[in-house]
Amino acid sequence: MADFLFVPYSSHGHVNPLLSVLRELVACGDRASVIVAPNFADAVEETGARVLRLPATSNVIVPERFDPVDECQRLFKTFADRRAIWALLRGELRHRLPDLVIYDPMIPRVFGIAAEHGVPTGLFSTTYAQNEHVIASTVGRHLGAKVGDLLRRPWARRLHPWAVETARDHRVVLINALPELQPAADTFGARVRFVGPLTGARAERGDDLPWTEIERRRVLLVSPGTVFTRGSGFFGPIVEAFGDSEWLVVIATGPTAPEALGPLPPNVIARRSVPQIALLEHADLFLTHAGMNSTLEALAAGVPMILVPRILDQRANARRVAELGAGIQLDAKQLNPELLRLIARKLTTDPAVRAAADALRARITAQNGPAVAAAALRASCRFDHAPG
Ligand code: UDP
Repeated sequence: MADFLFVPYSSHGHVNPLLSVLRELVACGDRASVIVAPNFADAVEETGARVLRLPATSNVIVPERFDPVDECQRLFKTFADRRAIWALLRGELRHRLPDLVIYDPMIPRVFGIAAEHGVPTGLFSTTYAQNEHVIASTVGRHLGAKVGDLLRRPWARRLHPWAVETARDHRVVLINALPELQPAADTFGARVRFVGPLTGARAERGDDLPWTEIERRRVLLVSPGTVFTRGSGFFGPIVEAFGDSEWLVVIATGPTAPEALGPLPPNVIARRSVPQIALLEHADLFLTHAGMNSTLEALAAGVPMILVPRILDQRANARRVAELGAGIQLDAKQLNPELLRLIARKLTTDPAVRAAADALRARITAQNGPAVAAAALRASCRFDHAPG
């Protein structure tokens, strides 16, 4: 039996994939403790893991447009949250040393605190891993191959904080991605394990959606994720394209209040949050921001995607899914009703898209990410030195 202490970043996208690993560890008799914000405590407790509760709730939200005042407040809150994590971690390690501390690359200081107490570490990344090759290919795409090649040197790791994390002397690095979604997958050593998809949330339905209708009709699920705000300008063309049509449209508005969308046609439902995994079991199409979890959940359910990413890793996921043939990538500025209807028709009728989505679903079904992740964590406790 091993004893693990997890320090995730308290947001849906970072806690959800951890849940399935916790369930797996606890079911096999391992001990797992998790430092987490109170608004995620119930979900973690339900896995059987022990919760070390942070003092303040955590709602990570990025506004639609950059606002210096919002940004300062956000940074201030982030710093206060981090201090609370460090204090709780130090308090725990003073009276009990686990076999391994596993942390999210968003909270890099955990590495040093664990080292101060002589406890080895593992990294748990909820999106693809970074190293100098990933940085080089991203930059090279925008600034040309020569600049890209310059960045293929080890010092380039310093240019991306998460790349430093991947290079540190961790016992194990778990990446919630399929190798197909990892840029430069063959440039990572044996310690780095691609264990995705860790689809953690259970497919529970909740009772405020018309499930009989959802099971019967063609369903378009729309979600820009839980962090990156999209306003009525984003949702408007989608409502216009599919309102009063044969589609049933379910929109998760995330940080935006559903009322901001104005009066909606009867076939369009808007909620701040929806049971995404349960809905994907019935959805015909998913308009997504291409966050890693959403992308993997849709691939696991075999649902084709309209991918409208906002930041770097979302763009890379979107591009890769489009290359694999299971979706079409759009820029938010391109969203217009006519184009959306055209793309929806293509994604739901083209046999090549169906075949690509089915192949990816089959590939995912064949692997049990949480069990592989739990086994890698257990094995890492038995090494005196990292294996590679
Ligand atoms: N999610 C959900 N309901 C919603 C919106 C999102 O359950 O209405 C879940 C989704 O299933 C996924 C996570 O929240 O597990 C979002 O993670 P992702 O990495 O896709 O994006 P983020 O929100 O972190 O940008």
